[in-house]
Amino acid sequence: MTVRSTCPYCGVGCGVLLTATVAGLEVKGDPDHPANFGRLCSKGLALGETVGHEGRLAAPMVNGKEAAWDEALQLVADRFTHTIAEHGPDSVAFYLSGQMLTEDYYVANKLAKGFMGTANIDTNSRLCMASTVAGHKRAFGTDTVPGTYEDLELADTIVLVGSNLAWCHPVLHQRILAAKAARPHLKLVVIDPRRTATCDAADLHLPLAPGSDVALFNHLLTQIDEQGALDAGYVAAHVDGYPEALRCARASDVSLTELDGHQLRAFVNIWLRSEKTVTIFSQGVNQSTSGADKVNAILNCHLATGRIGTPGCGPFSVTGQPNAMGGREVGGLSNMLACHLDLENPAHRHAVRLFWDAPKMPEAAGLKAVDMFRAVGSGKIKALWIIHTNPAVSMPDADAVAAAIKGCDFTVVSDVTGRTDTAQLADVLLPASAWGEKDGTVTNSDRTISRQRAVLPSYEASRPDWAQLAEVGRRMGWHSAFDFANVAEIFREHAALSGIAGGLGRDFDISGHADLTDAQYDALDPFRWPYASQEGGRFFADGGFFTKSGRASMLALTPLPMAQPTNSDFPFRLNTGRTRDQWHTMTRTAKSARLSAHLAEPFIEIHPADATATGTTDASLVQVTSGTGTAILRALITDRVRKGEIFAPIHWTGETAPSGRIDVVIPAAVDPVSGQPESKGAAVALAPY
Ligand code: SF4
Repeated sequence: MTVRSTCPYCGVGCGVLLTATVAGLEVKGDPDHPANFGRLCSKGLALGETVGHEGRLAAPMVNGKEAAWDEALQLVADRFTHTIAEHGPDSVAFYLSGQMLTEDYYVANKLAKGFMGTANIDTNSRLCMASTVAGHKRAFGTDTVPGTYEDLELADTIVLVGSNLAWCHPVLHQRILAAKAARPHLKLVVIDPRRTATCDAADLHLPLAPGSDVALFNHLLTQIDEQGALDAGYVAAHVDGYPEALRCARASDVSLTELDGHQLRAFVNIWLRSEKTVTIFSQGVNQSTSGADKVNAILNCHLATGRIGTPGCGPFSVTGQPNAMGGREVGGLSNMLACHLDLENPAHRHAVRLFWDAPKMPEAAGLKAVDMFRAVGSGKIKALWIIHTNPAVSMPDADAVAAAIKGCDFTVVSDVTGRTDTAQLADVLLPASAWGEKDGTVTNSDRTISRQRAVLPSYEASRPDWAQLAEVGRRMGWHSAFDFANVAEIFREHAALSGIAGGLGRDFDISGHADLTDAQYDALDPFRWPYASQEGGRFFADGGFFTKSGRASMLALTPLPMAQPTNSDFPFRLNTGRTRDQWHTMTRTAKSARLSAHLAEPFIEIHPADATATGTTDASLVQVTSGTGTAILRALITDRVRKGEIFAPIHWTGETAPSGRIDVVIPAAVDPVSGQPESKGAAVALAPY
């Protein structure tokens, strides 16, 4: 039997057709899925090679010894109960993942925020999308992605900012290339300090100085004004803040971009001479101490020109993870509630508390990821539950994070494997059902909700995350609130709550699906929210922003320097990112020999002039050092990086290449608005190893 499901990697959210055969799991692209229409990238095509049981966690483990589920879950419930009773609700915390399914995420948030009474629940989406969430909310009033994937095929110009789409969202890149082939006038602009694979098909590449995006888009705003491209009617009807934003833009210094006049004019001309523009942005924008400002600088230009929400137009954030959007929808970040309601809004809090019949609800935002692990390290957080993520490798200042987890009084890790650096630090390990074994929904970058479906039996004693979380909730005394019979029941509850959110003026509303039967949920086709009565298209073409006034806000933005200046001790700027064929810390992709053959070991890209200056030869080992740690990687000499800048991939772990853990080198400097760490701007030293 063939089952329709969704790829578990990036935020494109491609549909897959899965067939379990005696030879293994066959994976094909789903020709009817609106994200990919049958296309898959190398990672999606290799999914069948990654579902083997090698390294899987077969049974719960307590202090290194195999345990029964009853013993392990009772221990978790007891320790969280006693910790809260003794030290208060904010002495416990959850650290979740954009790999979780929406229903799993929903139960975790309900348990923490509604019943344990803590907002200390954050997620690795903080490392991925938090700046976009903050930027959207400042401009639109809600975390709304205005456009759809179809806009990429309707645009005259697509601008990619801080996005190596060819490697990180390959099927979207394929869609753009196909659109460009069908409509050769479609222009592609790539804004990235590094000349990535995405630049190969670009009409214009702007290798701007790292961190200078606000200066560039402020310059564009001044040119929109000077060259008569302002949509005065749209601004007058729907937008506040234009004069202040323009004043600030005029005062900012475009030379910070280090682009020459020819490059700047070419960019402005392409932008202003096209009618329909989509600006895609990703981690190069988000992972910055001024990430939220960078997002708003982009949104400012789209608001000023009214290029938002109409076919072929809009700012478009593409998410890194398969369910970063679903996590945001259920309130996965420490400052949010379910259904895009705000934790710190009394009316929103009251509505959710009533709906959940919750005994308590925190009134203030909880700790964001970096501060959460600092609180773990200081002993303020005494019980921590980590689900489907590997912060001992992926957080900035990763050695300090690993030490904090190791020193925590009580750490629970739910995962499919016990081999990650983080799992090895846990007191209790709970085996989780893997992709292909579990059911639920995910939301991709253009708000399309798709089912992930089980096609394989759960491995040994593993259980879905929602079942683990609900059982702990019941054991802590909240029986009816967590008495979910199945995943469809959780979906219905979430959908019903979204109707209340819609009534409170929120964008996220899928209440049209609140009464699905189990069978209808099982057969659910992909749909795009909002879905109160019919499927949603684009937002904001006619205004209708989710602010009190109904108007959008343009922000007055001043370019800020990166958190860490380079100096004579640490003269190089370290950029980090993904490779084409690996995912996160490689727990799944490393199982495929085909994927691992693409780039077999951790490396740094270094400019030829810098290689000469530091005595680095091609393929030699290089030591990269910052104030927080050291990594040792293979040198790859290339002029794809700018002089003075190096690039390293994020994937390698303690297990596979001890010195390749690049996040030990990255300091935990964060955006003051979004709490997102600056993962692309460490000041480092280089030396031959
Ligand atoms: Fe999976 Fe993303 Fe590749 Fe699609 S583009 S197959 S979602 S990794």
